[in-house]
Amino acid sequence: MAALTEFELIDRFFRRPTRRTVLGVGDDAALLAPAPGCELAASVDMLVAGRHFFADVEPESLGHKTLAVNLSDMAAMGASPRWALFACALPEPDPAWLAAFARGFFVLADQFEVELIGGDTTRGPLNLCLTILGEAPAGRALRRSGARPGDALFVSGRLGDAALALAHRRGEVELTATELATCDRALHWPTPRVALGEHLRGLASAAIDLSDGLVGDLGHVLAASGVSATVELAALPRSPALDRILVGSNRERARACLLAGGDDYELCFSAPPSAAARLDALAAKLQLTLSRIGRIEAGAGLVVCDEAGQALHALPQAFDHFRS
Ligand code: ADP
Ligand code: MG
Repeated sequence: MAALTEFELIDRFFRRPTRRTVLGVGDDAALLAPAPGCELAASVDMLVAGRHFFADVEPESLGHKTLAVNLSDMAAMGASPRWALFACALPEPDPAWLAAFARGFFVLADQFEVELIGGDTTRGPLNLCLTILGEAPAGRALRRSGARPGDALFVSGRLGDAALALAHRRGEVELTATELATCDRALHWPTPRVALGEHLRGLASAAIDLSDGLVGDLGHVLAASGVSATVELAALPRSPALDRILVGSNRERARACLLAGGDDYELCFSAPPSAAARLDALAAKLQLTLSRIGRIEAGAGLVVCDEAGQALHALPQAFDHFRS
């Protein structure tokens, strides 16, 4: 069978009918009609083989994750995701790989009614770059800069499982088969908290999504808002697997997963005390745990207290592509 050409590949795997788009894949540019009264939120994320994922990862989960990490950025802004553009470099056009990747991508895209409206396809080392566009009512998107002293600090879901899966793979911790299945799911099939982000408009004072670990990402909120925070380690939501390792000889490793693990794709947000009852109602409505993990204070910097209320001396650091 002859190899797929570039345009056969696009037509077969990435060209889909659109409903809310004026003009989608196939011309020199797509045409969009944003809803009146809305601002556009735009974000791009690149996933590089060997750096963000293993090249032999299941392509269906990779398709899911490529979109999920971008949906998570929309969630953090309180924006409703609408359109995506997908640029990719592929070593070879493998139809089975592409079909599985596209399946993972479009199942999630359909779930959130996101339309793929264009992209770019080239041969090269596996590299996936997704641009996402969303909408939020003008002036109402969530930002990192709005946290104020007296606000409470929350995270959705639970933290550290994705990092625990990687730690297991590296031989740093040993998970049971059941624990590994749970943690692998968090790593490969993250759930973007889009509905939470939309509902936090007008409720949260600041928000960020946790892609590089709580300490680093919360640090961005604190810096942007000009405030400090105290976080209680005991209040951080975690799986039974992480809990088990937290009380064992590998405690520091488990703490690092919780505080700086990365790949959580949960939302971390601040909200004034007056929002408490509405946040409880929201958690019930979305069937999503919202844990109060600490408070925003005047000053600068982050303090994390251990179970005994003692401040940790050294905080595990967020991943930085240009540091180590
Ligand atoms: P141009 O040369 O004008 O930039 P291309 O020939 O690269 O356009 O692409 C043709 C059409 O296919 C364009 O509409 C482009 O947006 C779309 N496209 C290319 N690659 C992808 C992809 N991986 N996913 C979705 N659409 C794509
Ligand atoms: Mg052109």
